[in-house]
Formats: sequence, C-alpha cells, structure tokens
Amino acid sequence: MLARLKDLEARSLALDPGVEARAGLWEAAREYGEAFLQALPEAPAFVLRDRPGAGLADLPIPEAGRPLPRILETLSDQVDGVGANGASGRHLAFIPPSSLFAGALGDLLAALTNRYAGYFFAGPGAVRMENQVIAWLAREMGLPEGSSGNLAAGGSMAHLVGICTAREAAGLRAVDYPRACVYLSDQAHHCIEKALRVAGMAEAPVRSIPSDGDFRLRPEALEAAIREDLRAGLRPWLLVPTAGTTNTGAVDPLEACADLAARYGLWMHTDGAYGASFALTEQGRTALRGLERSDSLVLDPHKGLFTPLGLGVVLVRHLDPLRKAHAFRADYLPSPPEDLEELSPSETTLEFSKHARALRLWLPLQLHGVSAFRAALEEKLLLARYAHERLRALPGVDPGPAPQLSVLAFRFLPGTGDPDAFNQAVLDRLTAEGRVFLSGTRLRGAFHLRLAILAARTHRAQVDEALDRLRTAAAALA
Ligand SMILES: *Cc1c(COP(=O)(O)O)cnc(C)c1O
Repeated sequence: MLARLKDLEARSLALDPGVEARAGLWEAAREYGEAFLQALPEAPAFVLRDRPGAGLADLPIPEAGRPLPRILETLSDQVDGVGANGASGRHLAFIPPSSLFAGALGDLLAALTNRYAGYFFAGPGAVRMENQVIAWLAREMGLPEGSSGNLAAGGSMAHLVGICTAREAAGLRAVDYPRACVYLSDQAHHCIEKALRVAGMAEAPVRSIPSDGDFRLRPEALEAAIREDLRAGLRPWLLVPTAGTTNTGAVDPLEACADLAARYGLWMHTDGAYGASFALTEQGRTALRGLERSDSLVLDPHKGLFTPLGLGVVLVRHLDPLRKAHAFRADYLPSPPEDLEELSPSETTLEFSKHARALRLWLPLQLHGVSAFRAALEEKLLLARYAHERLRALPGVDPGPAPQLSVLAFRFLPGTGDPDAFNQAVLDRLTAEGRVFLSGTRLRGAFHLRLAILAARTHRAQVDEALDRLRTAAAALA
C-alpha cells in the first residue's frame, strides 16, 4: 500500500506545478493574453467560418498532458478565432459584453486563491466583499439602506432568484399558480417566462401588455388588464417592467408602474439587466426614474459594468422573503447560516459552493474608481444620440425612435424590393466582413437593424466605422 501511495503521489504531483514549471506557464498565458489584447484594436468583431470550432475535435482530451503552447494554438484558432469577439469595441450586436482587464485579473486571482464565498464562517472576507458590492449597487440604484441581493452568474439566474423571492413574499403555493397573474410588456426579455417555468410556475397566467409607439409598457393597458383579472377572480401578483429593453433600449414608465403596483398590491420586479447600470449617470437616473421604487431589480454587470461574462445581480428591498425563499439547514455546518454575523450568499440563492464572484467587479471599482465607470456610461448614452443624428441625416434610412438609452433600431428603405430582405442582406454582408458586428430584430413584424452601444471599448471611431460600413453595404446592395 505504501509503495502504491508513493507512486500515486509522485504522479499526482503533476497537477501542482512548482515555481519553475509555473514560470513557463505564467509566461505563455501572459503572452497569449497580451497578444490578444494588442491585436484587439484591429481584430475582427465577428469571424464567420464553416463548422466553427470543429477543429477542437483534433485535440481530444488526452490521457497524458500536452505542452501549453500547443493547447493555446488550438484555443486561439478554434475558440478565440471564431464567432463573436466578446472583447471588441466593434461588437455592437445583442447587448454587447466587454471584459475589462481588471475584471479578468479579479477572476484569475479569485480562482487562484479559491476563497469560498458561500458561507460567512468559511469565507468571511469574500462574503463581506460580496455584501459590500451589493450594498454599493443598491445605493447607486436608489434602493434604501438594508436592501440585499445576490451576485448570480447572469441576469437570467438573477431573475430566477427575484421571482422565487416575489413568490415567497406573496405566500403563493402551487394551487395558487393558475390564478397568480404576471404582467410585462410585449418587449420583455424571454428569460422572465423561462424563469417562471423553471420556478415551476408555468401555469401562472402571463399578460403581455402591448407597448406604445416608443415600445414602452402602457400603464392604462396594464391597469385595464389588472382590473379584468381581478373581476375574473384571479390574483394579480407580479409586475415585471423593463428598464431598457433588448430590442430598442426602451424604458417602461417605472413611476407609473410603481404606482399601479402599490395600488393593486403587486410585487414590482424590474428587469434592468441591460439598462439599470445607467443609473450611475445623471442622464440615466432621469431616464430610469422610479427604478428605486422596485421591490427587486436585476442588473447585469457583465453588460453595463463591463465585467467578464458571468455576473448578473438581483437587488431586493426586502431581506425576509429573499432569505426565506432560499433557507436551509445542514448538520455538517458549524452553525445555521442565520446565526452568523453577516448574511451569507448561500442564504440568498440556490448556489452553495460559490467562488468569490465579487472580485471581478470589486477589483476594477477599487482600481479605477467609480467615476471612470460613470464617464464610460455617459459616453455610451451620448454615442447613441450621436449615432441617431448621423442615421437621421442618411437618405433612405428610417432612423427609428430616438434612443432612450444606448440601443438604436433602424432600417434602410430601399427604392424597390422587400425592405426586410434588403436589411437582412445588409446585415449578412456586415457579418461576413466581420469588422463590425451588428444584429437585427423584428419590431411590429418589420425587420430592423440594431446598433447596441455598450462595450467598454466602443468609442466614437467604432461607431463611425459601423455607420460608414452600413452606408457602403447598403449602397453596394441597392
Ligand atoms: C441580457 C438580458 C437579460 C438576460 O440576462 P443574461 O445575463 O443574458 O442571463 C434579461 N433582460 C434583459 C433586458 C437583457 O438585456
């Protein structure tokens, strides 16, 4: 047995490289990262290829390890060399991600030191850091002191936490679900209904309220729907306004929503996954007035605060239902989590073995200061207005509604032929070129192009290039 142990130890030591071996690995990884960043200003925003990434199959998971440079070659070609470039300033599609360098460093350090952020006793510093970030975000969003929340892997996961909390607050049981009505606009993100279904509430009636000409939820239509449900003996439960829709960046009238939620006893859970971060700016606070009256809200730092993908936050005004929805006991813990000095993240979500997720945001905030974030967000708002002005000046373009935040939806109006097909052809051409990455959507059935300005590396030059390429592509296709 001892000989076998010795042999196994010797072989398992390969998993833990020493100083010298690490030096080579650090260097190769640093070189890779630095080459990626230095190429970024000219790198494509999208790479269209046949069977993208399929070459990974040529590097099967091996029984014996390989040298890092060979592995990084494949990573570069098959993963980082195909599809959308999530670090490019010319990524203007969907809601673009960014990945600040300091955020990536935060992740690296969190993984390296592997501090546990699920339970206060084991990871007191990491848990306090998480709570500090949540408290700071709640303050920026205008929520009262004592508000709480959770740092989730993304907006969809954060919505699940919010919906379970709202269910707890209303005391809903499975028999109540077919009567528990949910209200949102016809522009709401698909993840709300998905979260309801995952929460086991697929039977809850969802009222998709038609939006107005600016794609905002219409309060009169909302109130009419609530009254009709009350007359029918149903139980209006949850209102999910959107603070910045994915399609057009529209902000629902949050004040009016909060008034109706108060009047009819609904929980207001605001979807600010894309837009809520703009509350860090003065202009954004004006556009988002009423956000601070939410019972809970979601914002995505991996969109609006430029962290690497994998961080969505739910903020909750009422700790009690948040905690009750996720309460647990375990004999293998030294004490029940609620007896500890600080709230533990495992008390506010499904996750338990949780890494120090806060570090990817806390480190950039500490290093750069909040003012740099405010400036970047104000820049994006202004760039959207600038882009809209340029679009308005282009002949043969319907520039779409003035941007409420930083998303534009517009379309070319060709002299002849089907406008939908024409705009799709413009988009396909840009995607094939790969210099700028835009996306499209349907608004009231009509295909529109979208320009979503949120990546940290998007500045005026990137917006100008996108508009120039759009014009050139349209001219070539006309
Ligand atoms: C991105 C987004 C979501 C979903 O968040 P994920 O982080 O992608 O899970 C929800 N709502 C809106 C408005 C979004 O933009």
